[in-house]
Amino acid sequence: MRWSSSFIPTLREDPADAEVISHKLLLRAGLIRQLSAGIYSYLPLGQRVALKIMQILREEMNAIGGQEFYLPALHPAEIWQESGRWSAIGDEMFRLKDRKGVDMCLGMTHEEVLTSIARNEVRSYKQLPQVWYQIQVKFRDEARPKSGLMRLRTFIMKDAYTFDVDRAGLDKAFIDQREAYKRIFSRCGIQYIIVEASSGAMGGSESNEFMARTPAGEDLIVSCEKCGYAANLEKAISRLAPVNDERGPSAPEEFPTPGVRTIEDLTTFPGGAEASRQLKSLVYIATINGEPRPVLAVLRGDHQVHEIKLADALRATAVRPAHAEEIHELLGANPGSLGPVGAKQKHPSLFIIADNALKNRRNMTTGANKHEWHIRGVDVERDFKADLWADFRTVESGEGCARCEVGVLEVFKGMEIGHIFKLGTKYSESMGATVLNQEGKEVPIVMGSYGIGVERIITAAVEQRHDQDGIVWPKSLAPFDVIVTITNMKQDDLRNAGEKLYRDLQRAGLEVLLDDRDERAGVKFKDADLIGIPYRITVGKKVSEGVVELFDRLTKQSEDVKIADVVTHVQRLVLSSS
Ligand SMILES: [Zn+2]
Repeated sequence: MRWSSSFIPTLREDPADAEVISHKLLLRAGLIRQLSAGIYSYLPLGQRVALKIMQILREEMNAIGGQEFYLPALHPAEIWQESGRWSAIGDEMFRLKDRKGVDMCLGMTHEEVLTSIARNEVRSYKQLPQVWYQIQVKFRDEARPKSGLMRLRTFIMKDAYTFDVDRAGLDKAFIDQREAYKRIFSRCGIQYIIVEASSGAMGGSESNEFMARTPAGEDLIVSCEKCGYAANLEKAISRLAPVNDERGPSAPEEFPTPGVRTIEDLTTFPGGAEASRQLKSLVYIATINGEPRPVLAVLRGDHQVHEIKLADALRATAVRPAHAEEIHELLGANPGSLGPVGAKQKHPSLFIIADNALKNRRNMTTGANKHEWHIRGVDVERDFKADLWADFRTVESGEGCARCEVGVLEVFKGMEIGHIFKLGTKYSESMGATVLNQEGKEVPIVMGSYGIGVERIITAAVEQRHDQDGIVWPKSLAPFDVIVTITNMKQDDLRNAGEKLYRDLQRAGLEVLLDDRDERAGVKFKDADLIGIPYRITVGKKVSEGVVELFDRLTKQSEDVKIADVVTHVQRLVLSSS
């Protein structure tokens, strides 16, 4: 491709509304343009990158027996009603009516569509297993689309679905997909980790998320370098050093604490206690079995509650902090003076959940459920009874690894780039997709679902691979293998040498961009660095000596190469691993 006749609208300055690096660089390098919030167009360079990713996805899916489908984006509500997700999914689904008034939606995912195909066509275990996939546009009405290609309302997904006669089949399919995903992300030059995750609205029993580490990520990940443990913060656990408390008084004692409203206040109050010797008491309203229930969550003063872990421990569909009035009504005190001792006497239906880190702790201090009074000498097991012990505190960097017991945990930001689920029979049971097994018995098909976002790969690649001058594409995703930059178009010898190299490189099977614009060399170099082509051949003054300069975008090293050798040289570099 010739730059002079191409549409590559590079920008000198960072766009004002772009926050994360990938968003800035994708706009500046002329890969994408925004049409509306969360809706982007791929310009030619962006489309070349997207197509390369899709090719890698196709190859790796085909390699594990995947068969590609093309499925409708427009779905009748009926199939979503059958699976129960028409009502289970909220405003994030784009819904519409056709001219007859029939409910329709734009597909966010395709479990229902493929399950409906399977139930009509697959009758016997002999037709299983099946591995079906698609690479297509999907829709999601994000409440807050942002960060360029990270949170979109229309996006391209590779979704795969597996169908097996039993659990053992699903286990194998899940491993096949997991291994394929590892190869996909490695080929895309992305550093990733695999974490255990909660399955959310997809349902099912087991799921793994593939996360790319980047400060632009929206998820927090906990990992141990020693043993490889990794989990989302909402599932992560850690190990705390054991505490051996000295014995306190034989009974807890109340004491006045005028002006003390917070854990922090009590640490400096005379006769108070350091945060790790306090009990933090928080009132939540949890929705359990559809009913609101007041819950007192008790944890160590210097620990933070994680509301998703709390909800999971309570088997609640939602938890929210109680309002000040609700707290007053329950315990007769302000949020700064709450505590578990005697709380049940004040309100018998109050459910007390205590964090595991408090087990066997003695001589602790907490609120007295009386305005500006506290209680000290609290022995956790002796002085109040928890209805439930659980782990619901937030893991922090530097805590010990619970799995290997020697490693130290690190908490960092990551971005989800892929997610694989064991769905089990959730969809096949609700939608009636059954087969006859080997014994002639009718059983629901056992399913798995596996997704990768193309835009997520683009974003992760740019977030992880850039420098102050622009994008540094991995060879596998770069829009071109090599760019030939003619430094001065007015000089015939340079122009002729550049044109000849352009033809020879293409003939050698390489994807070449020829910068034949009538621009200063400095402008051309800046643009080439910005769009991030792995190799640049600079055709300059040394052409008269039969030499061109070969520049490596990643290392920023240049070397002089004989014109006669440069094609095979570049070919070798491009074919070597990235
Ligand atoms: Zn570990």
